[in-house]
Amino acid sequence: MATEAKRPKRESSEEDDQPLQNFLLWCDKVNLTLSNKVYLSKEGTVAEYGMLAKDDIEEGHVLFSIPRQALLHQGTSKTKKVLEEGKECLESSSGWVPLLLALMYEYTCPDSHWRPYLSLWTDFKKLDHPMFWSKEERERLLKGTGIPEAVDTDLTNIQTEYNDTVLPFMRSHPELWDPERHTVELYQCLVAFVMAYSFQEPLEDDEEDEDPNPPMMVPMADMLNHVSNHNANLEYTPDNLKMVAVRQIKKGEEIFNTYGQMANWQLLHMYGFTEPFSTNSNDAADIQMSSLYKAAVQVTQSEAEHRLVVEKWSVLCEMEMVGEKGVFVFGKNGSLTDTELYTSLKVLCMSKEDFKEFQENEGWEEDDGDDDESKMAEALSFEGLPALAPQWKRLLHAAAGFTMNQFSQDMESDRRLLEEPGSLAKLGPRESKALHVRLGQKSILHDLQQLIQ
Ligand code: SAM
Repeated sequence: MATEAKRPKRESSEEDDQPLQNFLLWCDKVNLTLSNKVYLSKEGTVAEYGMLAKDDIEEGHVLFSIPRQALLHQGTSKTKKVLEEGKECLESSSGWVPLLLALMYEYTCPDSHWRPYLSLWTDFKKLDHPMFWSKEERERLLKGTGIPEAVDTDLTNIQTEYNDTVLPFMRSHPELWDPERHTVELYQCLVAFVMAYSFQEPLEDDEEDEDPNPPMMVPMADMLNHVSNHNANLEYTPDNLKMVAVRQIKKGEEIFNTYGQMANWQLLHMYGFTEPFSTNSNDAADIQMSSLYKAAVQVTQSEAEHRLVVEKWSVLCEMEMVGEKGVFVFGKNGSLTDTELYTSLKVLCMSKEDFKEFQENEGWEEDDGDDDESKMAEALSFEGLPALAPQWKRLLHAAAGFTMNQFSQDMESDRRLLEEPGSLAKLGPRESKALHVRLGQKSILHDLQQLIQ
């Protein structure tokens, strides 16, 4: 009997993976071309499938090129005709219904043209989006991060969209869909798939006022994992989509795409993973706009002062600087919503007389030079914040404090969990991802508060 050591060693896990082999054959068939300097694997990657460099790769090298006919969307699915005919009744706030209907059909159709591609994934729940966690787990681990609220909205929308739009449409096309098979559970799994795998082609400069492009599935591009410090980027041309190296990549390195400038809470909500909070250069924390209002109300000392804050807030609402569910965003270097925050602080802190003048002028005087965008960004950067007027700092400090108080765990106990030897290893994957989201947000809020003490 051959011992382990004598067995011939396989060159690559690629060869053992039948679904991957079928997918690569399908890629040849649809003229999706892959550079011979890269390969797909589940070994040596950060998460399941990923792409690795077989050789050193130069900046600008095209890693693969996907002809537009190989993109899966409502216009390339077998369901194209009925989706086009039913376009009007398939409109929804997400704009995802036609793609989801196409995916429900193609994912479950044994002889679908897309089967070798879609068969790569047999269990979308493995993606472990918080929408698959229990409500209790979300509350316990993610309270204060904004994710529980976002997931509740998603789940309500999924249910409503399925019952009110998808189900009636499927019933009127029994030749393509069957509600017994195309259940709301499958629909939810495919929502998670679209969240984590789809791409949205950016609008051209002259299309900025148009609706965003609908999402589409981009085979091969969606095999790439993400890091903020990525080394590849997807380019859109009229005939093809190309993944291009944006810097030199060494043999053996993983090829990483960017899914956008994603804070950890967004990565967890949309993709089910996080980057270590210290290395995610795009990490960010939100301060509810309503917390700034609460902070401004809190320091009023008379009914008249209270009324003035209410009036100022309603002007800010009319100017669309603030909204009931809006947030001010802080990244690792300062504010990312400068105009909104600067204007809000300025209006909330101005005297009664200045506010009256402001209203009469319907905004700032033309020559009010300190309100240009670069000045606002500078003033609200972590470098500029210490020089803000004391009243502005107090307001912002209190608003950050309200946000901090929404978390269940305090920052120090979270930090100990991360730093004490052995304690991180005891956490399950969900606890560990939640910890990175919480700690990233709290660190940003803490840094902010330190600068405006
Ligand atoms: N690894 C995926 C696969 O095997 O199908 C291909 C990438 S897919 C577009 C996105 C998913 O990959 C995410 O939802 C997450 O599960 C995983 N992923 C991507 N980047 C990751 C990272 N840096 N760390 C952990 N998981 C990651």
